[in-house]
Amino acid sequence: MPKTLIDGEGEMARRIRAHDWAATPIGTIDGWSETLIATVNLMLHSPFPTIVSWGPEMVFLYNDAAIPTLAGKHPEALGKLYCDVFVEAWGLVCDDLEACYLRGETPVRDNMFIPILLNGVVEDHYWNYSLIPVYENGRIAGIYDAYRNTTDVVMGVRRLRESETRLKLAAEVAKLGIFVWDVRNGVASWENERMYEVFGRPREKGPLNAESFMQEAIHPDSLTEFQEASKAMMSTGGVFHFEGMIRRGDGLVSWIEITGRLEMGEDGQAERMLGTVRDVTHIKKSEAALRTSEKLAAVGKLAASIAHEINNPLESVTNLLYLAQTSDDLAQVRAFLEMADGELRRVAVISNQTLRFYRQSTYPTMVLGRDLLEGVLTIYQGRLAQSAIKVEMRMRANVPVMCFEGEIRQVLNNLVGNALDAMALQGGRLLVRTRNATDWQSGGKGLVLTVADTGEGMSAKVRGKIFEPFFTTKGMGGTGLGLWVSEDIVKRHGGRLRVRSRTGTTESGMRGGGTVFTLFLPFEALP
Ligand code: ADP
Ligand code: MG
Repeated sequence: MPKTLIDGEGEMARRIRAHDWAATPIGTIDGWSETLIATVNLMLHSPFPTIVSWGPEMVFLYNDAAIPTLAGKHPEALGKLYCDVFVEAWGLVCDDLEACYLRGETPVRDNMFIPILLNGVVEDHYWNYSLIPVYENGRIAGIYDAYRNTTDVVMGVRRLRESETRLKLAAEVAKLGIFVWDVRNGVASWENERMYEVFGRPREKGPLNAESFMQEAIHPDSLTEFQEASKAMMSTGGVFHFEGMIRRGDGLVSWIEITGRLEMGEDGQAERMLGTVRDVTHIKKSEAALRTSEKLAAVGKLAASIAHEINNPLESVTNLLYLAQTSDDLAQVRAFLEMADGELRRVAVISNQTLRFYRQSTYPTMVLGRDLLEGVLTIYQGRLAQSAIKVEMRMRANVPVMCFEGEIRQVLNNLVGNALDAMALQGGRLLVRTRNATDWQSGGKGLVLTVADTGEGMSAKVRGKIFEPFFTTKGMGGTGLGLWVSEDIVKRHGGRLRVRSRTGTTESGMRGGGTVFTLFLPFEALP
């Protein structure tokens, strides 16, 4: 039984045993030197891709781990010459091979760029390799070439570096400072220059103690928030978020936002935190500016409503004085004057109330719809008497409603005033009604007050804007605030103000315009 010279059951062990070596410069296996046999066996048992090239011709032998790097060439490569197997790479490696074979050098290369043919296609690859001369009787007989494809590593590092660059660029564009805080030793490292800018400090020399640095930097007024943010981190799965003031190195106070995330080690303990810091002072400033402008707008609204609220009772006083002047009945004159007195008192109440605050927060009272509407109509008696307007009343509601009487009167006052304005030219009918009803949307019960006119009506465009402040079609005669204020009042009563309207002239030229305002006040809304 012939002695097995080539050991192992791997693919290449079998192929080497079966190969027709007689046709190659190294001849049949029986004639191989002990060194060659030993070297080939060493190669076959190496877990690394390994090539043995033997003799001055460099006859090519390889192991199983090398097969993938010979895609398209395996198994034909076995027994060929090195320069024929790696035609494409020969120019890049021949110097090292020669240095090893001829001069006994041991070239070692890291991440060397050598494109090779894989399945007939040239691919860019990076390689680590070391060439070791194999001596026999004092002369070099072959080369032991262990190598490794490092393309993935090289590309991985490159990609990492690229994404790091991208991240840095993004951070720079977003003006983000990036930090890494090693929780275990408390050392923080600042990853970009922006950090120094945000904190207004020159670059530190030694390592930076995160805790003492933050203690120094955080403004005393924000210290509690900072501590709370640190505590909260444990319950939010390691997410840290803080917004507060710092004292910069240059003495300025600024607002910053820190966002970070703890990374856990394999032992489940916090290992390090990666985070960003952003200067948000300008945002804080513009927020403050916005608040001021909102306050200004509110003050403007307040002033406008005061003017409107005072204007209505004053208008009533004018009407009542007119009535008093034209009446001969002393008792009636007294009644008118009393009402005028009441209206003036309202002016006093309004100015009093508005001094305290915008809302007339007197207590709500129980009122009947009839009293509300009749009170309003009384005020317009003077104007109605001089016009071609007929008033039709239908008072059906008999349940009082809880409301701020003065405010609801103000709403009705404006509705009636608007209706009269709409009929000022051609006259018409003013319909005022009260009834009890259920709101179809909320299902709540309440009082419905209707003010309708047969006036000029509104186009869809106008109707869409009437609740906007300062919208008026009356030029200098209007303020455009009546309905806007009314809507606010009605909303505060939990009520609803609806409008239906159509313009006076239809396509057929027939008259028939008019507007219906429906005010719903729920019984239950106010305490
Ligand atoms: P003002 O009465 O000062 O104009 P309002 O807010 O009370 O302000 O009304 C806004 C606008 O709504 C009016 O200018 C008018 O164009 C329209 N409007 C309101 N009520 C009626 C109505 N009954 N008929 C026609 N247009 C109306
Ligand atoms: Mg009005």
